[in-house]
Amino acid sequence: MSDPTQFEFLKNIDCDIQFNAPIGNMTYFEIGGHADTLATPKSVAGLQELLRLCHKHDLPIHILGKGANLLVDDTGVDGVVISLLHDCFKTTAFDEQSGNHNLHCMAGADLSKTIMQTARDGMHGLESLAGIPATIGGGIRMNAGGKYGSISDNLTSVHCLSSKGELVVYNIDELEFSYRHSNIIEPLILSGTFALTSEDPEVVRERVKDIFAWKKSMQPLADTSAGCAFKNPVDENGQRISAGKLIDQSGLKGTSKGGASVSQQHANFITTSKGATAQDVISVMNTIEKKVFDYTGITLQREVVVWSRCEVSTT
Ligand SMILES: Cc1cc2nc3c(=O)[nH]c(=O)nc-3n(C[C@H](O)[C@H](O)[C@H](O)COP(=O)(O)OP(=O)(O)OC[C@H]3O[C@@H](n4cnc5c(N)ncnc54)[C@H](O)[C@@H]3O)c2cc1C
Repeated sequence: MSDPTQFEFLKNIDCDIQFNAPIGNMTYFEIGGHADTLATPKSVAGLQELLRLCHKHDLPIHILGKGANLLVDDTGVDGVVISLLHDCFKTTAFDEQSGNHNLHCMAGADLSKTIMQTARDGMHGLESLAGIPATIGGGIRMNAGGKYGSISDNLTSVHCLSSKGELVVYNIDELEFSYRHSNIIEPLILSGTFALTSEDPEVVRERVKDIFAWKKSMQPLADTSAGCAFKNPVDENGQRISAGKLIDQSGLKGTSKGGASVSQQHANFITTSKGATAQDVISVMNTIEKKVFDYTGITLQREVVVWSRCEVSTT
């Protein structure tokens, strides 16, 4: 772990600072090591100042959302992990302009709660994302989605902060979103705005229920995991093929190491049990990559983001 005294300059900003903070338990895997520094800003100004100081002192930063797509290595992560868990980053607000219903969401807002709120308010547009655990910021960064649509489908603008803490605003036509990817270069997504349309609340609620039921029937939602471990690769015709099917065909269902195993229900989910370590998960991912390549000639790309000391693998 780094020497905490080197982070003294962070103490006078509008931000809670914790040194040697256990963050593995802030992820869905519930495993992994500590962050040298965990910073929880209490205002946008505090967040901007935090970014400015990290940039000035050349400290690496890592943004933590809901931790639903994240594996923290057992040895932890260096630099500053920034959490947007303070209430000021969880707000959502509606406005109406020329008949459009705009929903402004701060990055720390919970996607599932936001979907339920829009369903109650009779607003259609986000329900295709039912059952995906995410913050709005993490969802936009990953372009979260699935069979029924992606978070970018109804997105109209995104506010970001640069590494120096400066506000950068994008209209949707300035951005490119593709499968589990966005081309946003700023390290931090501060908020997103969605254009929704009016709909009978009962219709929206039913759709949310149906999509969630479909997801529950296909995926091991009751187990600890970070969702799909690998992206669906593209075949020679440019079509996405299911990574889960490739893993299954390679005979890997049930493969395990320590407390991590390939789910029997959905082979692209690596689930963990009590006592699992991040190394167990990494080891299972390495086995999958090797065996799928040996069996199919296809190189799988990780969807799960792994944070390790001195290195962060992003998607
Ligand atoms: C049971 C289960 C089911 C899932 N099903 C799906 C699914 O159907 N479809 C799907 O797409 N995903 C799915 N996932 C994965 C996960 O829900 C998504 O990737 C989601 O977008 C992660 O959001 P998060 O807030 O948890 O981000 P985190 O996991 O905390 O972070 C993921 C990445 O986003 C970055 N990030 C987070 N917040 C911000 C921010 N404000 N600004 C900039 N970068 C940020 C992080 O640094 C990291 O690189 C599933 C996960 C689980 C556990």
